[in-house]
Amino acid sequence: MARYIDTIVIGAGATGSAAAWHLAGRGGEVVVFEREGAEVTASGGLVSLAPFTDDALTLRLATDATGWWSELESRLGRRLLDTGSAVWVSGSDSPPRVAGVESELLDEAAATREWPGIRFPGSVLHVPRAVRLDAGVAVRALRDAARDAGAELRYRERVTRIRVLGDDRALVEVAAVDAAGEPVDQQTTEFECRRLVVTVGAHTTKLAGGVLVLPRLVVTQQQPGRFPLRGGAGTGVAPWQGSAQGADAGRVDAATGDDVSRGGELRAWTGGDAAGEGPWRGSAQGADAGRVDAATGGAVSRGGELRATTGGAAAGSGAWPIWRHDPVVGDPRSGYWRGSVWGAPAGDGVEVVWSAPGAAAAPDAAGFRSERRRRTALQHYVREWLPGLDHEQFTERGEVAVSTRDGRAVIDRVGPVVVATALSHLGSGFAPAVGALLADLADGVRAPAAFSLRADRRASTASAAPASASASPDASPGR
Ligand SMILES: Cc1cc2nc3c(=O)[nH]c(=O)nc-3n(C[C@H](O)[C@H](O)[C@H](O)COP(=O)(O)OP(=O)(O)OC[C@H]3O[C@@H](n4cnc5c(N)ncnc54)[C@H](O)[C@@H]3O)c2cc1C
Repeated sequence: MARYIDTIVIGAGATGSAAAWHLAGRGGEVVVFEREGAEVTASGGLVSLAPFTDDALTLRLATDATGWWSELESRLGRRLLDTGSAVWVSGSDSPPRVAGVESELLDEAAATREWPGIRFPGSVLHVPRAVRLDAGVAVRALRDAARDAGAELRYRERVTRIRVLGDDRALVEVAAVDAAGEPVDQQTTEFECRRLVVTVGAHTTKLAGGVLVLPRLVVTQQQPGRFPLRGGAGTGVAPWQGSAQGADAGRVDAATGDDVSRGGELRAWTGGDAAGEGPWRGSAQGADAGRVDAATGGAVSRGGELRATTGGAAAGSGAWPIWRHDPVVGDPRSGYWRGSVWGAPAGDGVEVVWSAPGAAAAPDAAGFRSERRRRTALQHYVREWLPGLDHEQFTERGEVAVSTRDGRAVIDRVGPVVVATALSHLGSGFAPAVGALLADLADGVRAPAAFSLRADRRASTASAAPASASASPDASPGR
């Protein structure tokens, strides 16, 4: 017979952990199943809670999230938030203003004085006291809070099947898996629950597509690049320099020059625009070395110092803002761009990523293949616009992004099943506010229409083509 649990959450990413925190805090038994281990692999790097948008709902979530993060800081007794600059480079001489946050317009000369490592095409919008936090620190904090509130987090337990038995009854089938994600035996265990919260990101269609009519969810690859500062300004030694090359480093497809390493591994690229051709410098780091950097905050997150956890902010890239740089429509100089650019201090360098989705990807990012044209375009951008960074040597990692045709998140409830996915810029930074929304849904409150699974949204997205490179900035992962 299936064991009964009041509320089951599937997925202990930022969203599921936040939902578990709120749900457990409101009482009742909450169990979270997470197919990965307890270690947090979320990318280090700053995310900003200053949304570059006038959308009222997004602004409300940003305000709510800031409040929840502050509360988490007091509950956990450690510092999570920082304030610093966030900049919107819109390419216009009269950039849009952001409602609800203090901001100022800086002309090109003033912006260049402030951030000499960035080239500006004109005036920019500056949010001087944007609330920021580290993505990896965020997930750890939310998991700790969920546990403290009484939720049980079970790792390496993959939900293999969901069934809806009634308006307030669902059944899940769970398999124990090993570090490679393989079942440890043929056994599965069944659990019945009153409420089921599905927060499995890119895996949503596969896991819940049979019980929910979802909009078309497009899973694509993102390949952020992390670039060291030029001239040793605070970095001196980039994290990978001097470290031994991993045993399997340098696995490059002979025909294409593309990296064929598996998901999430970091590699150092070199060689200017011909990055695909002469791929490895002797000191390229292996995957684990990369994770040390990517997991910044792991070792120090309990120390309570955000400056320490964000590393780069203290160690030299602190002078860098989080920024968004939009292409100018019709300007041939941005013809090679892949949507807007997002950049942020990360580790001892600066991470830069195109917002537009890349190639179609498997949900778990296994078999990440670096797209050479995308990589070269990013290098080109850094050379043109970021004189403070060394565009020749950088590391890349593979991530997956999930998006809808209309660029809106999916957050709704049908019967006992509550679902959240395609969160893009509502991801880690906004997670505590999204988690509260999910707990409300579980308690019977209706979803905001913009995020809901309403029929017209399903119809408009079900037949839609995959999101293209011209996807709106709002559909992009945000910093
Ligand atoms: C390149 C890039 C940059 C980004 N930058 C930012 C940013 O700056 N700021 C920001 O706020 N957001 C950013 N995002 C978005 C953010 O990372 C995501 O929105 C956020 O991670 C979503 O969290 P989640 O918990 O919903 O999903 P995920 O992080 O995907 O977590 C889902 C969890 O479910 C687990 N799972 C999956 N299937 C199962 C199963 N069957 N059984 C059990 N567990 C399962 C997975 O292992 C995983 O842990 C970025 C995204 C990308 C790709």
